Amino acid sequence: MAMSTPLVDAPLRPFDSGPPAFVPVLVASERCKGCSLCVDACPPHVLALDLGVVNAMGYHPARLIDAAGCTSCAKCARVCPDAVFTIFAPPRGA
Ligand code: SF4
Ligand code: SF4
Repeated sequence: MAMSTPLVDAPLRPFDSGPPAFVPVLVASERCKGCSLCVDACPPHVLALDLGVVNAMGYHPARLIDAAGCTSCAKCARVCPDAVFTIFAPPRGA
């Protein structure tokens, strides 16, 4: 069965409820071509294309929508053809 691609239809401010203690993924949004490979590859489904944002290349960039749900597995970084992601390991004891 084909996996559906989550889409975000409003501008997401990543940390509306206050900054999380740890941000595991940085997204270089201006390099993103909106291909959704990372969205489909993310096991906990915490990435989405942000339909409220258009980058300089004309694409809706990927965005981390749930920092707490990210496991730092780096599958998004491995599938991304444009080296958009920087992944950080969780702090020890987290
Ligand atoms: S590091 Fe893993 S869990 Fe976190 S956004 Fe990327 S694919 Fe998803
Ligand atoms: S795989 Fe890379 S280029 Fe494609 S949507 Fe994700 S971040 Fe953007």
